[in-house]
Amino acid sequence: MGTSKSCKILIVPIYPVDFSLAMSLAHSLRDILKCDILLDNTNHLNISSAYDSSRAQFNSTRIISMLSEKFKNFEGKILGVISVDLFIPVLTYVFGEAQLGGKISIVSTFRLSEIAYGLPENRKLTEERLLKEAIHELGHNFGLLHCEDYLCVMHPSTSVEEVDIKTASFCPKCWEEISKQISSEFDDHHNRKQN
Ligand SMILES: [Zn+2]
Ligand SMILES: [Zn+2]
Repeated sequence: MGTSKSCKILIVPIYPVDFSLAMSLAHSLRDILKCDILLDNTNHLNISSAYDSSRAQFNSTRIISMLSEKFKNFEGKILGVISVDLFIPVLTYVFGEAQLGGKISIVSTFRLSEIAYGLPENRKLTEERLLKEAIHELGHNFGLLHCEDYLCVMHPSTSVEEVDIKTASFCPKCWEEISKQISSEFDDHHNRKQN
């Protein structure tokens, strides 16, 4: 099966994210997931209504809804990449959020950068952390749940220390699961078009 028949993932950089971080993410994802990785550089998403002034953070679920609305005709997964601090109401902050078994996910560089911890920026480290969190959220989009293997990318992380411990790879069990999901997703779309 050639790459033209694989699933599609559209990476959507959301202003004011560093566009080159989104580009390097797209590049790394191509090596890991057997999907077409596309980079959106045309759309501007105004996320000001997702801002919560009492928390000085952005509601990630609301941004997911905006992406869902904006890309409702896109057949594939949408990964928003953002640089602002994200929250969901029950948590102090999140690195990202995904619709479980759905289409949309979002990941923020805000707390993945050393700058958030009063340290000088380490570009390579930020890229590695972003890649891990992006794969993790996409894993949720493909229906994967959290994994107990602490090296597996589907292991949950609540701090950057935990992000640094895990790898950007799926354990054999999760890899089998996501490979199955990716190929069945393609088959579904393919069959629907034929009917
Ligand atoms: Zn998770
Ligand atoms: Zn796993």
